Amino acid sequence: MEINAKIPPGKLAEKWAKAKSTYKLVNPSNKRKYDVIVVGAGLAGAATAASLGELGYNVKCFVFHDSPRRAHSIAAQGGINAAKNYQNDGDSIQRLFYDTIKGGDYRAREGNVYRLAELSVSIIDQAVAQGVPFAREYGGVLENRSFGGVQVSRTFYARGQTGQQLLLGAFQALERQIALGTVKMYNRYDMLDLVVVDGHAKGIVTRNLLTGAVESHAADAVVLGTGGYVNVFYLSTNAKASNATAIWRAHRRGALFGNPCYTQIHPTCIPQAGDFQSKLTLMSESLRNDGRIWVPKAKADKRAPGDIPEGERDYFLERKYPSFGNLAPRDIASRASKEVCDEGQGIGPSGRGVYLDFADSIERLGRKTIEERYANLFEMYHDITGEDPYRQPMRIYPAPHYSMGGLWVDYNLMSNIPGLYVIGEANFSDHGANRLGASALMQGLADGTLSCPSPSATTSPRSSARRSAQIAPSSARLPSRSRREPHAFFLQRERAASTPSIGNSAESCGTSAGWLEARKG
Ligand SMILES: Cc1cc2nc3c(=O)[nH]c(=O)nc-3n(C[C@H](O)[C@H](O)[C@H](O)COP(=O)(O)OP(=O)(O)OC[C@H]3O[C@@H](n4cnc5c(N)ncnc54)[C@H](O)[C@@H]3O)c2cc1C
Repeated sequence: MEINAKIPPGKLAEKWAKAKSTYKLVNPSNKRKYDVIVVGAGLAGAATAASLGELGYNVKCFVFHDSPRRAHSIAAQGGINAAKNYQNDGDSIQRLFYDTIKGGDYRAREGNVYRLAELSVSIIDQAVAQGVPFAREYGGVLENRSFGGVQVSRTFYARGQTGQQLLLGAFQALERQIALGTVKMYNRYDMLDLVVVDGHAKGIVTRNLLTGAVESHAADAVVLGTGGYVNVFYLSTNAKASNATAIWRAHRRGALFGNPCYTQIHPTCIPQAGDFQSKLTLMSESLRNDGRIWVPKAKADKRAPGDIPEGERDYFLERKYPSFGNLAPRDIASRASKEVCDEGQGIGPSGRGVYLDFADSIERLGRKTIEERYANLFEMYHDITGEDPYRQPMRIYPAPHYSMGGLWVDYNLMSNIPGLYVIGEANFSDHGANRLGASALMQGLADGTLSCPSPSATTSPRSSARRSAQIAPSSARLPSRSRREPHAFFLQRERAASTPSIGNSAESCGTSAGWLEARKG
């Protein structure tokens, strides 16, 4: 098998402009001749479905939830990054690009990440235009805070409910297209399989979760925005419904994974409390702006935190990483927390915990300021643990949180199966071995609003003969692997004259060679 990342030539900063100027355009009256299936209506899927509908394509959007508003994106708390430099603290597209590459241990694909940094600027404008109520300074300009692994403040937020507010913005854009008839919504539909005809994605098989009916739906292109797979670890910060089945089914039809081993362990989650828990609760990274992480210097110290004097506390992140302090990147902070617990300094009933302490910030800024920034997170912690974080430090411990790996995609976000696009957390391309905080929402919206709709314009208008040969959408059979479907919707894609093979391609370095080799067999 051969894969080609199709990175546009030229300098990093010129690649996206060059790509856009060379994509084959589809004229407005031809766009409605294309059917596109979008699976998922989280931030990535809802934004894609709305954008493609707005462009004039016929879109069918499938989710297993009862409403797009239930997608896991709604759980995102802390914020969304953008290189706006509103704080005048030295931020730039180049710096966001560099931080993302470095934060991901130099394992992300540079071309995609540079585009992401460029698009971040427009994403915030788009969200503001949709009415997303970002926090503002007293003078009215948008406020920012910091997230781990960076030394600027570039994170835009809406209290501790940024994902919810962004998803409502994307949902409204989607609803508008549904009302205009460009998007047909299929709620409570589970994608069971991907239909591949002559090597091209041509549709999906679904189960209606209310009636049980199994149906197939045909399209010229299929877009998967079905989220991450970190629930394979059983206890994680993800919603229980985030089940990873869609990308797994696409993989069984030949879509390759990239970096499936790259999983983010988030440092600030509420420690597991018992055997009957179905998930873990994240305490947003934004809390590390004002909270200080520490453990007692003495091993197995059972004193209450307030009884442990300053001199007997180990602020281990500030000690080990003075330039980033408590905002060290997630992988580094998680590892450091586990290390002190392994050494016997952990706190709480299980000894698997460290303190996240707001006492200094409350004294410096006042309780009201801390309430304004984090009230809902503090309430959530209080409801779950019964402890008041205004009076005593939070107890936190690392937990599986995000999958940087996912289905392999090229620069145009297309998988190795022509016609199958993968966006948001479901793909592998932008975060390398460690995602920086507040960059997933940025990627979901950038993929959905700007990146994915652009290369969709590289499709060629299908002929009427192809159109008439479409797969009957009502067929209720799961396609067997050997059955040949009519060669219906063929997305004409130019293959590069010399497509590099997996082993030799410089662009394949971000892809798990093991998995690819397995597929070759
Ligand atoms: C607790 C928490 C807090 C977070 N906070 C932040 C933050 O502050 N900032 C940040 O940048 N990131 C944050 N993240 C990460 C971020 O929220 C996610 O990476 C992002 O929202 C994923 O969006 P998505 O659109 O790719 O997928 P999702 O929002 O997970 O949407 C998946 C969609 O696919 C559908 N679907 C899945 N499988 C199927 C199927 N088989 N058939 C039909 N439909 C299917 C679902 O119904 C859903 O609509 C957080 C994550 C967690 C867990």
